[in-house]
Amino acid sequence: MPGPDLATVARALLDHYGEEPWWIPVLLPGLDRADELLLGLVLCQQSRWERVEQVLLRLGAAGLAGWDALAAADPAELVPLLRGSAYPTTRSRLLPRLAAEVLDAGGVRALLASDDPRSALLALPQVGPETADTLLAFTGTDVPVVDAYLRRVLGRLGVVDPSASYAAVRAELAAMPTGGVHWEVLHALVVEHGIHHCLTGRPRCAGPAVPRRDYAEPRKCAAHCPPCGGCPLAGVCPSSQVSGGPAGGTTGG
Ligand code: SF4
Repeated sequence: MPGPDLATVARALLDHYGEEPWWIPVLLPGLDRADELLLGLVLCQQSRWERVEQVLLRLGAAGLAGWDALAAADPAELVPLLRGSAYPTTRSRLLPRLAAEVLDAGGVRALLASDDPRSALLALPQVGPETADTLLAFTGTDVPVVDAYLRRVLGRLGVVDPSASYAAVRAELAAMPTGGVHWEVLHALVVEHGIHHCLTGRPRCAGPAVPRRDYAEPRKCAAHCPPCGGCPLAGVCPSSQVSGGPAGGTTGG
């Protein structure tokens, strides 16, 4: 059976999880939000956000979260602070380079205000399409963010081909109506869904959801966690494992 359209998915997820304006919390009050976002997104590559939160807090406590301090930082000093992010030793050498290039460009806000902010971000070391698009989405540009959660969730729902290239999925999604849900919110909702219901191995199409992770921000994904009635898309998802659902499978979770 064909799956639902993106707007239906977006509205169903928003109704189920609700909007969370603190989805990416500001953990470092002394830092501009755009600076903290870029630093956090780079550190989150191949890691989990709750671990990255602790890295950001350690960097902040050590006075090494700003680009000036990072650019001058001794990699040996950075390594223990970066534990929890992927490849801390490699990253300890790369982060000062990123910081120097951000400073050369006049800062993250200057990059975002340039004629072609996406290209400007992609020119930075360690910044690929997913990181650039996430930063754009969280700073006011309504662009799709294609990550592993999105490929899994929207792939199972039949909205996108999960094996297509980043550019192809992004272009396809950019042409789809989202029911008025901005990508900043929709990206968070898709991640929520991938964490709580649409898991990698055995999706929890029927309730309850997997409990929240241990985030530094206590409100993050707290309100909708168990008990709940299961995936809000189980009735229209071609991959549903709910007995009697579209796939006619057995009840999961
Ligand atoms: S019904 Fe199951 S497979 Fe489909 S989106 Fe929901 S959790 Fe994922």
